[in-house]
Amino acid sequence: VAGGEKLQAPRGTFDVLPDEGRRRLRLNRLAEEMLGGAGYGYFESPVIEDTELFARGVGEATDIVQKEMFTFEDQAGRSLTLRPENTAGVCRAYVEHGMHKQPQPVKLWSWGPFFRHEAPQAGRYRQFTQLDVEALGSDDPAVDAEVILLLDEFLARAGVREVRLRLSSLGTAGTRRAYLDELRAYLRSREGELSDEVRGRIEANPLRAFDSDHQGTRGVMADAPSLLDRLEADDAEHFTAVRALLDDAGLAYEVDTTLVRGLDYYTRTVFEFESDRLGAQRGVAGGGRYDGLVEELGGPHTPAIGWAAGVERILLAGDAPEEPGGDAVFVAVAGPEAGREAFRLVRELRRQGVRVEMEQAGRSMKGQFKHADRIGARAVVIVGDGLEVKDMRSGEQRPVADADEVVRLVGA
Ligand code: ATP
Ligand code: MG
Repeated sequence: VAGGEKLQAPRGTFDVLPDEGRRRLRLNRLAEEMLGGAGYGYFESPVIEDTELFARGVGEATDIVQKEMFTFEDQAGRSLTLRPENTAGVCRAYVEHGMHKQPQPVKLWSWGPFFRHEAPQAGRYRQFTQLDVEALGSDDPAVDAEVILLLDEFLARAGVREVRLRLSSLGTAGTRRAYLDELRAYLRSREGELSDEVRGRIEANPLRAFDSDHQGTRGVMADAPSLLDRLEADDAEHFTAVRALLDDAGLAYEVDTTLVRGLDYYTRTVFEFESDRLGAQRGVAGGGRYDGLVEELGGPHTPAIGWAAGVERILLAGDAPEEPGGDAVFVAVAGPEAGREAFRLVRELRRQGVRVEMEQAGRSMKGQFKHADRIGARAVVIVGDGLEVKDMRSGEQRPVADADEVVRLVGA
């Protein structure tokens, strides 16, 4: 290995520097405040899981499992994968810890890194951060409405503007299969009017046809059967109940029967929040019900719903106000003898809750005051023969006896 050469963070990853770090921490605190306040408990699962969890929990046929996973063998030859999403791990943990014995629904929120091998671009990374909410153990439409409204409120408070919500219901897997067969048959019956691209994807992904800009295709799709018209009675009723609660709450949404989500196991309610502030990567958050997934992973039948929001995309689309910084105290060191005393004072002030930094770069007194200004210090404590406090706003400077007096003067 050649020494001395510069290295870079791996493709599609990034460092978080302190300015950006402040904004991220602020979002994290907002999540804790809002979701904790709504009874969601903080949950973390490992970043590595058995590859099989995602093959089963996301679905073999999905883009994620087909081409986006970072999979490797450990020293013992086990196949492990860096988690590409959260829901599968949550369901695994729900089964592993017998959470069905707890009061239902079990309500969880998470925050952390996820990994997908994608082509990096603005808003699309190989390591990214998701804020995630899951509620397991209830099929009450009120849970669907609650998680959607919490997400909407979170995005609003995070300063994400120009948000649109798309909402639909997928019914059951059986309904969906039958519908896709019907749609394929319909597309084949009018094949001649479709674009080459759509015609080529009839088998693999007939829903693509709804997104086409091709004029002939659009004409065909205007008369296409809609999944919502094919829902079983209880699924249709469930969707009506969810919509009524969202309507009561005054939340605007667009029913989009073409909404498809990346997980194989979605059932009933699905939704996506987009922001026009973002370019091509307009998806800010998405989620839905996955009533069959816990069972698929070896647990009891457990209806559940959740969502995931991309933290980096929220920050890109948001204009959350910066947190006011600069209420710290700076301890200036007057002369080589004062260093130990200053160090002791800083520890004492920190014990009493004061935000405080001290000189650590051998600056002149003038340089120290300049630095105190730079970090926005509201007061400077000068440690020399004695102690003096200078109020940086009024410019007033006065001697003090000890740390307690400093605290009284500058406040904790
Ligand atoms: P997209 O259509 O943009 O690929 P997705 O449907 O794959 O999104 P989900 O699996 O629903 O995304 O993940 C939830 C959220 O996580 C997305 O809405 C987005 O904000 C964020 N996200 C997904 N993939 C990435 C990525 N590679 N980089 C950054 N954020 C991402
Ligand atoms: Mg994707």
